[in-house]
Amino acid sequence: MTYSFPRLVREALRGNQGWSPAWRDPAPRAHYDVVIIGGGGHGLATAHYLAKEHGITDVAVLEKGWIGGGNAGRNTTIIRSNYLLPGNERFYEKSMQLWEGLEQDLNYNAMVSQRSVINLFQTDAGRDAAARRGNNMILFGAGAELLDVDDVRRLCPFLDFDNARFPIKGALRQRRGGTARHDAVVWGYARAADRRGVDIIQNCEVTGMRIERGRITGVETTRGVIGAGRVGMAVAGNTTRVADMAGIRLPIESHVLQAFVSESIKPLIDQVVTFGAGHFYISQSDKGSLVFGGDLDGYNSYAQRGGLPILEDVAECCVSMIPGSSRLRLLRSWGGVMDMTMDGSPIIDRTPIEGLFLNGGWCIGGFKATPASGWCFAHTIATGQPHHLNSAMRLDRFLTGHVLDEIGTGATPNRH
Ligand SMILES: Cc1cc2nc3c(=O)[nH]c(=O)nc-3n(C[C@H](O)[C@H](O)[C@H](O)COP(=O)(O)OP(=O)(O)OC[C@H]3O[C@@H](n4cnc5c(N)ncnc54)[C@H](O)[C@@H]3O)c2cc1C
Repeated sequence: MTYSFPRLVREALRGNQGWSPAWRDPAPRAHYDVVIIGGGGHGLATAHYLAKEHGITDVAVLEKGWIGGGNAGRNTTIIRSNYLLPGNERFYEKSMQLWEGLEQDLNYNAMVSQRSVINLFQTDAGRDAAARRGNNMILFGAGAELLDVDDVRRLCPFLDFDNARFPIKGALRQRRGGTARHDAVVWGYARAADRRGVDIIQNCEVTGMRIERGRITGVETTRGVIGAGRVGMAVAGNTTRVADMAGIRLPIESHVLQAFVSESIKPLIDQVVTFGAGHFYISQSDKGSLVFGGDLDGYNSYAQRGGLPILEDVAECCVSMIPGSSRLRLLRSWGGVMDMTMDGSPIIDRTPIEGLFLNGGWCIGGFKATPASGWCFAHTIATGQPHHLNSAMRLDRFLTGHVLDEIGTGATPNRH
């Protein structure tokens, strides 16, 4: 069923009785050409692009809970393509271009809002780093502007510009950055993949891998054994656990990241703003809540909940940046499990097991990557080779030393 304005009018006039479910609820079949483990944004996007770009429709997406119940439905919804290293920037710029056409491609309102992302800096060294990053973004067609303090004052009058400890000196702005409604992204990809014949199977946990003579032949699940010609892992924070089933050890640690939402207020912040002096980012939802987050909790965990020390840290950053926020009440918070690689960049690659592919290591920033991640992972699974857009995201970079260390200090999950 296509969503359109005439269809909306027709359904409104007949009591919305004509809508059918957005995707089917099929029972798993005994064998698929491709099985994707993980029904988050990345797994569903991979299924969509496998069907759309490569004509591979004999595909199942296996999700242990409900689709979007992992990080895809828990993030702070920021999208951007403002990276420094070419190996990252060309990939994230592809993602931004896919975001820009996503709603037409999926026939689904994902509420993509290019409201701009503003990265503040408080030091001269911060300005130099922003200029360097901005120049690279311009080279890759992503667009960037270096703002002086008066420009920032005009755009974000609510900030504390003369904070004695963190005086704002300017910002790097990407106008095309912004936010997208994370649940809608999941539902849009699910519906589009389902329409092309992909089976989306929820409440189906993968518990083991069937490997014969170095080649994957299927997966064991809570709903029985499912044979597969090729298997793709896209399980985010559970990457090490699932890879372990195939005897693969990865340079990944799982950590908790929390998000926080305030009570609703009138429109105040019409961009995404990041602190610069500390790790903190904030935007305002369409309902009026301020949505914000900061650092990892700082200990290894597979639990989707965090502790109070990070709340204190994030609240301090928030009040330093926006003093008026001290009078806001916090409505709710939640946690997600991050798959932190040791250089802070993701992995989209084959594995040493024939037919088994890996998509993981997204750290704290994989939501913005969802379209390009699915697009590149689909290409890698379909052709058996990485696309040039994900050619720097190989697993063996940790062996050869060709790491993609965006901030020059690694992901440092143990230092947070
Ligand atoms: C608080 C928070 C804020 C964030 N903010 C941002 C942001 O602003 N911008 C940004 O770009 N990124 C952000 N991220 C990161 C981003 O959400 C993730 O990197 C991205 O969502 C990971 O990919 P995914 O959507 O496929 O993961 P998920 O949605 O976690 O999907 C993986 C799925 O695999 C399933 N699974 C796991 N094990 C199994 C198994 N054995 N069998 C079957 N299924 C299994 C899980 O249930 C899960 O649904 C944030 C994350 C969090 C937690």
